Parts: sequence; structure tokens; C-alpha cells
Amino acid sequence: MIVGVLALQGDFEAHARVLTELGAEVREVRVPADLEGLDGLVMPGGESTTMTLGIEREGLGDPLRAFAATGAPIFGTCAGLIMLDREHLGIMDITARRNAFGRQVRSFEADLDFPDIDGPPVRAVFIRAPWIDDAGPEVEILAEVDGHPVAARQGSLFVISFHPELGDDTRLHARFLEDVRAR
Ligand code: GLN
Repeated sequence: MIVGVLALQGDFEAHARVLTELGAEVREVRVPADLEGLDGLVMPGGESTTMTLGIEREGLGDPLRAFAATGAPIFGTCAGLIMLDREHLGIMDITARRNAFGRQVRSFEADLDFPDIDGPPVRAVFIRAPWIDDAGPEVEILAEVDGHPVAARQGSLFVISFHPELGDDTRLHARFLEDVRAR
């Protein structure tokens, strides 16, 4: 099982560490050829404007859309969620609102209950996080903060607006790897 981590910008190294700890073979993705043979892909948090420029520079837009179309699981976190939305890569039927929690609240933590994660709530770290402003009928909302969706699923796509790679709770990465294995 080989899992890619988009490594143009952002905290891809922390994701790679968690995935390796969980037993996955990890490949950093920087150019289209890196997507070949991957069983799943993580889109990390970071800065969506910079990530967009990197994707354009490397010609990764169409290859990423083609990869998603194969049904391979994709896990988008924070800026990675933004990248997957209608206004960026157009892979997921959602519209993200960037820096949605306002300038003052750049960073906070919250406990979130996920319907498909066993055990105590997930302690979620939000850093200048987006929320999901609008979602199509095939999108299942998994968690909200103050009534705003911050986690969702659409088929093989799983997005959260916080940073699961910070801290030592690896259950969301493990959940993603279950999807990769199942496929
Ligand atoms: N605010 C960032 C953006 O809009 C996302 C923040 C993050 O990934 N932690 O791209």
C-alpha cells in the first residue's frame, strides 16, 4: 500500500510521519509522475494560494483530477480541503470559505465527535481554518463547529478543516488508511 502526500508546500512531513507510523509506505508527490501507482493521497494543510501556484507550475491539476476520478481515497486537511473544492481543483462538490473563523480566532481547539470513529471525541486543532459554506447532495457532513461543517465525506473523498497531524491522535489517518486498504 503506497500513500502519497502532496509535498509542494505546507506540513506534509508531519503527515508522512503519521502515515509511516501507521504502517503505510509514503511517497511525497511533487510532479505528475509521482501519482503513478498510488493507492491514496493526502492533501496537507498549508497555504492554499501558494499550493495553487505550485499545482499550476507543476501541471498537477489534470493529473490530480484524473487520480480522483479513479476512486482512490483522498484525505484533504485544512488548505487541502480548500484545494479540493469547486473553486480550486473542482474535485469535491463543496465550496470552502477560507479563514472562516475570523481574524481574531486564528487558532483554536475543539472536541469533535465523528460518527465512524470509536472512542473519545477527536481533539481538533484549527489554524486559520476554513469551513464548508455549501455542499452538494452527495456530501455527508461528519462534524460541525458552531453550526458550520468542518468535516465531510463524498464517496472516496474525506475532508476536514483542521490539522490531524499535530498531536498524537492518529485515528483519522487510520480511518483514511482503512479506506485505502478496503479499496
Ligand atoms: N488559511 C489557509 C488558507 O487559506 C489554510 C490554513 C491551514 O491550512 N492551516 O490556505
